[in-house]
Amino acid sequence: MLKYIPASLSIFILFIISTTAAAQSDDPNLIMESVTQQNVEFNIYFLAADEFLGRDTGSNELDIAARFIATTFQVYGVKTAPGYDSYYQNVPFREVKAPTRGTLTAGDSTFTISSDFISMSGFRGGVEGEVIHLEYGSREEIESVDLEGKVVIAGTGLPGQTAPRQMIQASAQKAEWIRDAGGIALIERLSQQQMSWQMLANFLGRDRLFRVDDFEETEIELPHIWVESISEERNQFLGGDSFSEVSLSVEGDPARDFYSYNVIGVIEGTDPDLKDEYILLSAHYDHTGVVSYHPEPITGEYIYNGARDNAVGTSGVIEAAKYFAENPPRRSVLLAAWTAEERGLLGSGYFAENPMVPLNQIIYNLNIDGAGYNDTSVVTVIGLGRTEADDDLKASAEAFGLEAIPDPVPEQNLFNRSDNVHFARAGIPAPTYSMGLTAFDDDINYYYHQTTDEPNTIDYEYVTAYIRSFVLAAGKIANRDEAPFWLPGDEYEQAGIDLYDYEVEN
Ligand SMILES: [Zn+2]
Repeated sequence: MLKYIPASLSIFILFIISTTAAAQSDDPNLIMESVTQQNVEFNIYFLAADEFLGRDTGSNELDIAARFIATTFQVYGVKTAPGYDSYYQNVPFREVKAPTRGTLTAGDSTFTISSDFISMSGFRGGVEGEVIHLEYGSREEIESVDLEGKVVIAGTGLPGQTAPRQMIQASAQKAEWIRDAGGIALIERLSQQQMSWQMLANFLGRDRLFRVDDFEETEIELPHIWVESISEERNQFLGGDSFSEVSLSVEGDPARDFYSYNVIGVIEGTDPDLKDEYILLSAHYDHTGVVSYHPEPITGEYIYNGARDNAVGTSGVIEAAKYFAENPPRRSVLLAAWTAEERGLLGSGYFAENPMVPLNQIIYNLNIDGAGYNDTSVVTVIGLGRTEADDDLKASAEAFGLEAIPDPVPEQNLFNRSDNVHFARAGIPAPTYSMGLTAFDDDINYYYHQTTDEPNTIDYEYVTAYIRSFVLAAGKIANRDEAPFWLPGDEYEQAGIDLYDYEVEN
């Protein structure tokens, strides 16, 4: 039928259609119709139900939550990312359970796991060999000796890197160098007393979850331990030459490799000139599981339901999927539900390193997550005052009777402690849209990461308004003529200039 319409007229009609669509996608009335309190309650009551056992990374229950999100994308008509045929991004993990037994024998001395040493790798079994002493096990030292078949004993950390966090990072790096150089084990003497040994043993000796690049590559795990060497006597013994061989054994469950899933969808934009640009709307859907000392069977009081954190945010992404599939904005919308946020922002980090659309085509990330709320008249935008989208964010909250306020506790550095930080570091303006938080007070702490964070304790009228304002903010940003950038002088401004190849006007 179109062929009977003169070309100029058909272009005119297309113009009308496309501008109307754009105008509609940030219409508060349409958002009210689409994002209903009933939908929001459904999403949150379902995802935060006891049967999900706290949506722990690596659990079947989290996989069911992923399926739920992917299915909503599918029925709403959300597409998979260009070039992919699944909503899932497989994120490889390795889980290492705490060892059950372990001993280290050097000369006449025997050391016991937990009280004397901590295993730093997933190695299980026994190893023995000739010892070589290095000061730290720096790259230069390793290159200057023959490590083939040797057990390396060295100090923890690297020169100038003695903070606990640096030591842990250096440790992993050193283990890799030593393995590559043919070494068969790494024993590090922890001689600085920066935190109590018991705290460290509890922290590093528990079940641990790592993100791996791929399963094959990381298969050979070097036997690697930290020995408590705080007393001068023990430090001298382990660093000395009164023994030439050691044997080490660590027993326990073998490491388990598995995939967890980021759920990713795309809604194509309507503007031919802007649809290659994406606004990323993201929320983590995992939570912290069940309390570790739970009895069998696990009852509700031992389950971290994670209703506020982050079934609410997940519902925000699901409702955005529904709304924007019906009312696509000018730019494309990239929807993401991240796994393993509670294990160290791991799912989002994987995506940032393995993006399914080029990062320089993602013009903004509006992440939705938070600790809970103590003020139902506001939304707290962690990152308000840092990007050019402030007016859109404020107007969107106002449209639903709320006021957007900035981070009330900048000293807590919340901006850099959420999934958005991976994208901010890459240069993408990336605030987190949180429920109304004015301080970390008793109201917040009562629910935050507690088993009390249950779906029946939520003010759904407020949460619905909050999610509607999130969708509106996304629509406004996606429809802007110019993508909103970091404000001048921001910590991540330079990263953004590099990412987008921006010309800077001076
Ligand atoms: Zn969270």
